[in-house]
Amino acid sequence: MKLFGVVGWKNSGKTGLMERLVAEISGRGFRVSTLKHAHHAVDVDQPGKDSYRHRQAGAVEVVLASRKRWAMMHELRDTPEPELEDLLPKLTPVDLVLVEGYKRSRHPKIEAHRVETGKGLLAREDTTVRAVASNGAPEGLPVPVIDLDDTAAIADLILREAGLTAQPAEDQPPSQLRNDCFALPPGVDWTPVADALDLLRDGLTCVTGTETLAPRDALGRILAAPVTALRANPPAANSAVDGYGFAHAALGPEGGALPLAGGRAAAGVPHPHPVPEGQALRILTGASLPAGVDTVVLEEDVTLDADTVRFGAGLKRGANTRKAGEDKLRGDTVLDAGHRVRAPDLALLASVGVAEVAVRIPLRVGVLSTGDELATPGETDDPARIFDANRPMLLGIAAGWAYRPVDLGQAPDDRDGLRAILDDAAERCDVILTSGGASAGDEDHMSAILQSEGTMTSWRIALKPGRPLALGLWRGVPVFGLPGNPVAALVCALIFARPALSVLAGGPWQEPLGFTVPAAFSKRKKPGRSEYLRARLSPEGTAEVFASEGSGRVSGLSWADGLVALGPEAQEIAPGTPVRYLPYAGLLTP
Ligand code: AMP
Ligand code: MG
Repeated sequence: MKLFGVVGWKNSGKTGLMERLVAEISGRGFRVSTLKHAHHAVDVDQPGKDSYRHRQAGAVEVVLASRKRWAMMHELRDTPEPELEDLLPKLTPVDLVLVEGYKRSRHPKIEAHRVETGKGLLAREDTTVRAVASNGAPEGLPVPVIDLDDTAAIADLILREAGLTAQPAEDQPPSQLRNDCFALPPGVDWTPVADALDLLRDGLTCVTGTETLAPRDALGRILAAPVTALRANPPAANSAVDGYGFAHAALGPEGGALPLAGGRAAAGVPHPHPVPEGQALRILTGASLPAGVDTVVLEEDVTLDADTVRFGAGLKRGANTRKAGEDKLRGDTVLDAGHRVRAPDLALLASVGVAEVAVRIPLRVGVLSTGDELATPGETDDPARIFDANRPMLLGIAAGWAYRPVDLGQAPDDRDGLRAILDDAAERCDVILTSGGASAGDEDHMSAILQSEGTMTSWRIALKPGRPLALGLWRGVPVFGLPGNPVAALVCALIFARPALSVLAGGPWQEPLGFTVPAAFSKRKKPGRSEYLRARLSPEGTAEVFASEGSGRVSGLSWADGLVALGPEAQEIAPGTPVRYLPYAGLLTP
């Protein structure tokens, strides 16, 4: 559970701020509880009330309960006052606990401040104060000052500090990515694939905002905050089978011969009366266990004669029943932030009563092809031109990863044209995938323009197929300059862009799904570079590779169902040698 405090001197506006924050943050779909410190004699009870009299009489705790709420009073009498830490476990788990008071406790806080009080600010000395909410403009503070009435801005800060949400996209310039997020350590010549992946993982953070959706609309989205069960599943003990329910205590050593009570319990139609001990009740799958029933015998295991149910020994107490909350308890975290919502998760969310979830806004992935030679099929027959294969492939990949593909078209091999396209792309994309022009040749304008007008590192990765990757920021937006060759573009997209985009989108770093299978091919591999071969599984479960390793052989991409990944070490592969197979099913999916 996350904790955030509101502190301040008397008349500084603490309580009003607490009240507005509870409304604001609950309104954004988070579950909020509060904990307030009060003067020593505080009481919620009133002299003369029954509960008050129970306390006066010496009860350790008094619980006062009704259909709408319950309250527990714990009398400290002569024991010391509990610390904040001692009280928190008594709360039902929620997303955020707002704490009023408890100045000296070390949790993060915001300080409420009104100029009229004439008091100094705790924020000047207390490093647990993360911001000041003031109706004035106190100066020289080490923390931000927010207008006391700007509840939304204060809530933003609290949720951000508590790790419950990212900054919304509008006020989160993607330059939040550090300018050196793609930097390579100095002196590096060829970077091994594993090191390149580590660098990417360390350099990137989420760049998308959040919104709240009904679960069905959240399918495929990444959760922006953990999801908590709003009620237990199952909510009440119920029968797992069609049969007869009874109290186990009534059984003898030989089993049971129990007269049937009248009526029955069915799913959604509970039996309204307790079942007397020694009797059995007809009960159907999913029906709540009525009072007096703790065990169910399967209808196939009984004989019914007249109005008596007979069955043999051996049934354990609780048999054929489901306990309340045996799957999930109210307050359990059922899904973590960063999790991608899949159809089975919708069943889980429904079962624990969740009607809204905070999710990331999908990453907008721009795809741009570069090169004067590129044309669109149907446009020309000129043999000097080739058809743009990368753009449809990369747009399809982005869609397959459940991002929002943005078609940026084709850029000519000239710097002004490229600049205009990149400027426009930076306005409407969270990340840009380009292909072609990423090396250091005369016509490699992508790397040249990133180098001189953005920030760019040319990653020479010890990888086949793959030319240098140009990684950089354009107006703060990350650009993945993939090789132009479609085979290399695909491999670099699947191996590098996939996990990197997942982090940018608010998800986890993704390791590709893979398994080890016997090779169906022979290959002698030199040490140095990692290699990815176009591959597919034979009916026998061995990995076949495409007949040609030629990097221009686009048909091999389509022939394949995955890749075989070979590490940087030298290898002598013969039929039967174990190799790592990465199916497209794990690479082309979110
Ligand atoms: P480049 O990285 O620009 O030097 O391109 C390397 C090779 O990939 C050249 O043969 C290009 O013609 C080819 N190529 C570049 N972009 C594409 C594309 N979008 N579709 C197909 N081939 C491409
Ligand atoms: Mg080119």
